[in-house]
Formats: sequence, structure tokens, C-alpha cells
Amino acid sequence: MKKSVLAALAMGCAMSALPARSQPLVEVEKVTEGVWAARPQTGANVGWFLSGDGVTVVDSGTTPAIARAVMGKIEETTKKPVRVVVLTHAHADHVGGARVFAAAGARIVCHENVATAVAAFLRAAPDPKDPADQNVPSTAVVECFSDRLFLVDSTRQAQLYFLGAAHTGGDIIVYLPGEKTLFSGDVAVNAPVPYMESADCDPEGWDQALVRLARLSLEHLVPGHGPVGPIAGVQATGAYVQKAIKIARIFIADDVPENLYRARLTTAENRIEGVAPDNEQHLANIKAVVKFERERMKKAAPEKKAAPEKKG
Ligand SMILES: [Zn+2]
Repeated sequence: MKKSVLAALAMGCAMSALPARSQPLVEVEKVTEGVWAARPQTGANVGWFLSGDGVTVVDSGTTPAIARAVMGKIEETTKKPVRVVVLTHAHADHVGGARVFAAAGARIVCHENVATAVAAFLRAAPDPKDPADQNVPSTAVVECFSDRLFLVDSTRQAQLYFLGAAHTGGDIIVYLPGEKTLFSGDVAVNAPVPYMESADCDPEGWDQALVRLARLSLEHLVPGHGPVGPIAGVQATGAYVQKAIKIARIFIADDVPENLYRARLTTAENRIEGVAPDNEQHLANIKAVVKFERERMKKAAPEKKAAPEKKG
């Protein structure tokens, strides 16, 4: 949800302290025919669906160990090899397991804005103390796109879209129109408080992306975080992001000092349904959105033109 690929490397080191043979707990749910999702005990969800002669996976788990455990579940549910891994964005909890899939021969697909970061992550040497971590062949190529990419076989169409910068500068979502299923990454989550602190987060863009997602014909949502299935996360994340922007604009207009944000979030006009006002992530989000809004306003302000020199 929130860490960079560089942080993923650090996390890989931290995970090496775990017992070598520990198997992460991964709960699997069948979403609809040919589509599954896993909720590992830690980190982001992983989805997969049948595509061509194999499987396409959406996100890779937070660690190589989780990726290994998810691969086992994919084998159990489909008996087919993983051909493609779509990384919804470059946060560590979504790409941390990508090396395991790439080493097994899967193609790695992401948005062009994060392709360099993902390629660097794949090429980095694995943690020698983590038996699940893998060396990726030096010939491995990261595939990326600008706006959309469709994967089509005789029975299923998968539509990958970049809806503009949102949760990060390189989010993609995967939509299966035939199954009315959306893999939303962290653009829509089934959790009360999305993460808005990424340096490349674009709150306004995120709001617009969610307006577009809300128009999809949808029966199943596989969000980056939270329960798999309920589609409520699209509307709920949209409502949260909109309100966070509104609160940030009020704080800027009223010139509220940062040390008073917590108190101001408890007032009726600044409450968000379902979010405790003392939620630390919520407070951090508002601080971040105030910063983004100030930067946006600064860029949007017309530049003062120098007065023309008087001649004569
Ligand atoms: Zn994220």
C-alpha cells in the first residue's frame, strides 16, 4: 500500500529473520468462474484468473515467501502455470513477491511510469537468507503500457487501464467485463481509510479515477486491501478521497495550524462516516492532502508578469 520498491528490498532483509520454513497463511476465495483471490495474513491481496493456456496474476504479495505460498494456491486452484503478473503499482506490498513469479518465467506487466522502478527491483540481488527469494534471469523484460492493454483469449477479456495518477503516479486496474470483476489495486479498497501519503499521490486524479470506476458494470471487487468480493469499496473510497480533499481545502482556507488538525477532524463538518477522527492514518492523509493541494494551488496560480519597461 505504501512503501517504495526500495523499501521492499529492506523489507526482504527484515523478512529473512523469520524461520526459513515458515509458510505464510493465505486464505483463498473463488470470486467467480475462473477467477480467484488470496488474502495473505499480511500485506496486499493477490488475484488471479485463467487466461490463454495459463494464469494471469494481479499483484505478487508482499514478500517472496507469500508469493511462494500464493503460487501453491494457484497450482491447487487451476493446475496451470502463471504466464503473466500484472503489478497494479510499485508499492512494496504489491511487488515484493514479483521476483518469485518472474524467476518462474512469468511476464511482468506494469504501467510505464513505474516500469524502471519495477525493473530495478527485479534485477536486484535476492536476499541470500530468504530461501523463497529468487534470482530473475538477466534477460527478463518488464512490459508496460501508457493508457490501456487488453489480454484476450477465446473465453475471457482482461482490460488493463491507466486512469491517470491516483493512489500513485502509476496505478493500473484490471477489469474483466465478462465476469463484471474489478481488480482495483489500491485505487479502491474495502477498508475505511485508503493510503494517501505516497509522494506521487494525486488526490484530484484519484477522485476522477474513482468516478470512472463507479460507472463500471460490477459484481465483484478484488481490492488491494480488505475483504474480497463486496464492490462497496469503489463508492466508499471515492467518498473518502472527495471528503479528504474538501477537508484539506477548508484547513487551507482557514489557515489551520497542523497541531490543531486532530481537534478539527472531530468537528461535525470534518467527520467522515465510518472513520474514527483519531485514526492515525486518517490524520496523516489529511496532512498529505493539504500539502498536495497547496502545491496544486501554487502551480495553478497565474504567474505575476513583470511590468513592461517604460520607454522614452
Ligand atoms: Zn499502495
